[in-house]
Amino acid sequence: MSRAGIHPRVLIVGAGLAGTATAIRLLRFARGPLEIVLLERRPDYRSAGVAYHRDGNPWDHVFNIQAGRMSVFREDVLDFVRWANLEADRRDWPAPWAELEFAEAGPAPRRIFQDYLVDRLAEASREACPGVVLVEADGEAVDMEVRPDGVEVTIRQAFAGVPAAGQEREPGPGTDPGTGTDPDRETTVLFAEHVVLATGLELREPPFAARVHAHPSFVRDPYSAAGIRKLMALPPEATVAIVGSVLSAYDSAGFLLRRGHTGRIHLISKTGTMFRTYPVGHEHGVLRLPCPKGLLEPYRDREEFLARVRTEWEAACGAVARDHPDVHPVVVAERVAKAWEPHLPEAIERIPTAELRRLLDEFGTAIAASRVGAVEYTMAIIERAMRPADGSVKLVVGQVKEVAPTGSGRLAVSVAAPEERLTIEADLVVSNFGRESDYSRVGQPLWRNLVRRGIAVPHERTGRGLEVDERGTLLGPGGEPAGPVSAVGVLREGDEIVRNGRTGAFSFNLAAIKNQSIAVAARVIEQLELLDGDMAQSVAEYHGHFSNTEEAARFGFEEAVVMEVRRLAARDRSERESLDSRLEACIRSMGGLPTPPTGASRPDRLIRTVVNRAAVERLTDVSVTPRQLRRQLGIANADHLGE
Ligand SMILES: Cc1cc2nc3c(=O)[nH]c(=O)nc-3n(C[C@H](O)[C@H](O)[C@H](O)COP(=O)(O)OP(=O)(O)OC[C@H]3O[C@@H](n4cnc5c(N)ncnc54)[C@H](O)[C@@H]3O)c2cc1C
Repeated sequence: MSRAGIHPRVLIVGAGLAGTATAIRLLRFARGPLEIVLLERRPDYRSAGVAYHRDGNPWDHVFNIQAGRMSVFREDVLDFVRWANLEADRRDWPAPWAELEFAEAGPAPRRIFQDYLVDRLAEASREACPGVVLVEADGEAVDMEVRPDGVEVTIRQAFAGVPAAGQEREPGPGTDPGTGTDPDRETTVLFAEHVVLATGLELREPPFAARVHAHPSFVRDPYSAAGIRKLMALPPEATVAIVGSVLSAYDSAGFLLRRGHTGRIHLISKTGTMFRTYPVGHEHGVLRLPCPKGLLEPYRDREEFLARVRTEWEAACGAVARDHPDVHPVVVAERVAKAWEPHLPEAIERIPTAELRRLLDEFGTAIAASRVGAVEYTMAIIERAMRPADGSVKLVVGQVKEVAPTGSGRLAVSVAAPEERLTIEADLVVSNFGRESDYSRVGQPLWRNLVRRGIAVPHERTGRGLEVDERGTLLGPGGEPAGPVSAVGVLREGDEIVRNGRTGAFSFNLAAIKNQSIAVAARVIEQLELLDGDMAQSVAEYHGHFSNTEEAARFGFEEAVVMEVRRLAARDRSERESLDSRLEACIRSMGGLPTPPTGASRPDRLIRTVVNRAAVERLTDVSVTPRQLRRQLGIANADHLGE
């Protein structure tokens, strides 16, 4: 019996995309009784987080990437589009969405993603094995202590159990508008055998806006109900300044333009980077390109390194344009950036830490813009409005130094442009979503406490996110696992950069989260299944025997792995159960296996774990596209929309 109750318990902190995706995988992967508690401090963010919640995302906010890349399942890339076409309840959808047939390469409103995740979570809960239960709870985790058998988590606000469907809570008088929780509410301590942290994006207070935080003409968070209300109340001829020119700035500008805004909109950007528009019918693809060897030379200085990057980049883009005429010119940079990812960890290793941090800060936007484009729905209206002749949108290149109130009730934005200092007077200033990625500076109590206790260590090499191992387990100050505590999502940004060469938003967007949710859920189940034995050590040792493909095929290991991949990907309980018993039989019949390490009391369990690890590696292999993955693994999900 577990200390948490009759069954072991896993607590997931944060029910945005990463937390929900991990809960879905846990519900599917668990073969024995388990309580999965999905804790969220803001009920309106449940199954959504900041990027997809309804109140902060009007219908004009569409995904940053094509609808066909928004499936929460890597092995079933069209799941989201099929859901939108066949399952979504469209009764309260406005035109044009209500009648639209969604396409893989087209746009989709971000707000419908919340319904999608709610449906998929409910399905996973329905189809879970007997005794595997999901508890959706409201509250904010504020502290944790690691014990020998698990983790004690302090939660602020009544631990309310399952809230009623659609329940909205009125904020109390002391409620913190950022977190939705009330610091005066009482706390409770919950024990869990494993904790998954999926706390997502942390808001950074921009220093340039210190004097106008509470000013009625300043929008600190354009993804909040209050921010949207201010944009909606604006007269069409008003002058607007939007700080930032990345994808979130386009949301605010596009929203105003679609509402018929005619006044000047200044997009103020430090670098002047604008995103490219994907060509019609664009499909995601992965090219294999040779390693850019020039990046592996020893790092001498910044200028010399940048020159090498430029040379390699131009050569690679030229080669793709020449050798892959099917790749649209607009997508060449994205294909190169993606193809370089496997080579980047080695290149990054050579860059001294302080330099690496500086380069990431300086070129973050440029990297993001080369790795991903924007959909036509978002860009067309902005590009039209930027035409010199009749455009109302103007790109201003320069760094915002201060936003200050003027005597007339407007705001003055002072901008240090390359040649001069400008002042823009505006009726409304929108500060785009500035994230705090340095966890030594994050203000929320959970992170202050975890860093203080050494349970979480800010990522040393990049200053972004936290130190984790390759399976997402939090590492303490000495580099050892801090306890049964894993991380999914934004918190792994720095590790994704240095370990997997993920660049731009791909270090923390859905693409990364899909894979992390699989690996972390599998790791949690493994820990729980191995709890009663001392087998964890033996597993790693035994795993090595099967890394050679020929050896693996000889033992029948390959067949078992493919079966396990299919079990992990199966949505129906009956299909999973059938694959599970076939897999057990397959493992029992494996002949001539290497002898398990001495002391491994249950060789079948050990092999099963090794098979599971290999299956997880296949399912999360990013060197192939999701479609190639499905073909390789013979996963029989529908490949066509509407099937
Ligand atoms: C405006 C915007 C638009 C985006 N659009 C896209 C897109 O179209 N496609 C894409 O792939 N990516 C997009 N992204 C990237 C985005 O970061 C990820 O897709 C994803 O939403 C991150 O998920 P997450 O679960 O890590 O974080 P979040 O979605 O932020 O979820 C974290 C959750 O944890 C809760 N929480 C935090 N701390 C606690 C605590 N102590 N106790 C309890 N609960 C807590 C929060 O309230 C929140 O609900 C967008 C990002 C932004 C900001």
